[in-house]
Amino acid sequence: MSGTSCKDSIALLLEYLDGNLSDEVRARLATHLGDCTPCEEFLRSYRATPGLCKKALVARVPKSVADKLTSFLKEELKKPV
Ligand SMILES: [Zn+2]
Repeated sequence: MSGTSCKDSIALLLEYLDGNLSDEVRARLATHLGDCTPCEEFLRSYRATPGLCKKALVARVPKSVADKLTSFLKEELKKPV
């Protein structure tokens, strides 16, 4: 197993929101997000552009969590990895 799938990333994000993510796992997540076109698109235009990860995400989390998640992800994308 190498890399992190979109589905895994969403699971990790949910753990992050719960405060359960180690720095190492968080870094892995950031790597996937910077490397994955569907996730990147999802992050950049969450509301305007439906994508694979958005579909997976909204199926799993309530809107309030999705909004919080989107804010977090936008901050992550601004950082150099
Ligand atoms: Zn992805």
